[in-house]
Amino acid sequence: MRPQQMMERTSRPADEPQRQQVVYQQQRQQQQAGGKMCPYCGAVNEPEAMFCAQCGQPISKANCPHCGAEIDPDADFCEVCHHYIRKDVCSFCGAQLSGNEAYCPECGSPQGGVVCPTCHTMNDFAFCKKCGTALTEEARQMVKQLQKNPDFQELLEIVRDYSKLENALPYNSERDIVKEQMNAKLRERVLTLLAKDEGIEQPVIEPVESKRMTREELEEQKSVKIKMLSAILDKMAVPPMPSPVKARNFAMASKPVGVRLAWVCNFKHAMHSSPCGCAKPQMGGKWVVLGKNSTEEIKDDK
Ligand SMILES: [Zn+2]
Ligand SMILES: [Zn+2]
Ligand SMILES: [Zn+2]
Ligand SMILES: [Zn+2]
Ligand SMILES: [Zn+2]
Repeated sequence: MRPQQMMERTSRPADEPQRQQVVYQQQRQQQQAGGKMCPYCGAVNEPEAMFCAQCGQPISKANCPHCGAEIDPDADFCEVCHHYIRKDVCSFCGAQLSGNEAYCPECGSPQGGVVCPTCHTMNDFAFCKKCGTALTEEARQMVKQLQKNPDFQELLEIVRDYSKLENALPYNSERDIVKEQMNAKLRERVLTLLAKDEGIEQPVIEPVESKRMTREELEEQKSVKIKMLSAILDKMAVPPMPSPVKARNFAMASKPVGVRLAWVCNFKHAMHSSPCGCAKPQMGGKWVVLGKNSTEEIKDDK
């Protein structure tokens, strides 16, 4: 259930108006006494509570240890300064740490970050935020596991078809069409001459089928592929997960290469270049297809 729905449900005294009224009064009194009201479910909590005792949502703000920005207490990444902020959880595998390890005892990753061997970007997470390369053994296994998923296979196939269309050359102008016709005539002449050399007077010359589509045909086919792509990306949306690290890794593993995608999170419904730029990937989200000129919508560090 979305927080919005929860609020609507609890703030509407439909069934038992009188009892509700009493509860409201109690809550108001508690609030006056310094309690903290949960914006998600309306329950009143202890003044120093970080999370709602009723629904578990964060009701207090914490501060980023790097830049001081206000963040949710269960966020593990600061969207303002782009730092991973948990010292007690390995950002690569989610294992518990004491906070002093240079390397994670579970996955062996250096806690200072890993340089991507493909594009040399420094990374705090198990997949390169720039090029998507899997940087840990667990990440590579995750990718392998996904390759067996029929939805993911279908996704890869559509992406392959789409990339082919992206690289296809449409007729650019009238001139291209004329040029192609001239080439066809030239070919016919050469083949006729060659045939005459071999003593064939009336050679049968098969015309060359043009494989090029018109610009309109190409755009049409591309938009069909985009629709298929969006449908399967919706189907493969990442559900909420208990561990932000696992959710982030799973989302990164399920990203196909060869098409421009952005990550839309369920936290703020913000568009990130990847879940590596989201403070709360544990709430889930999905990949969406990016249009040609829509990079401005993404405000992540890349
Ligand atoms: Zn609550
Ligand atoms: Zn920060
Ligand atoms: Zn680890
Ligand atoms: Zn990389
Ligand atoms: Zn986000």
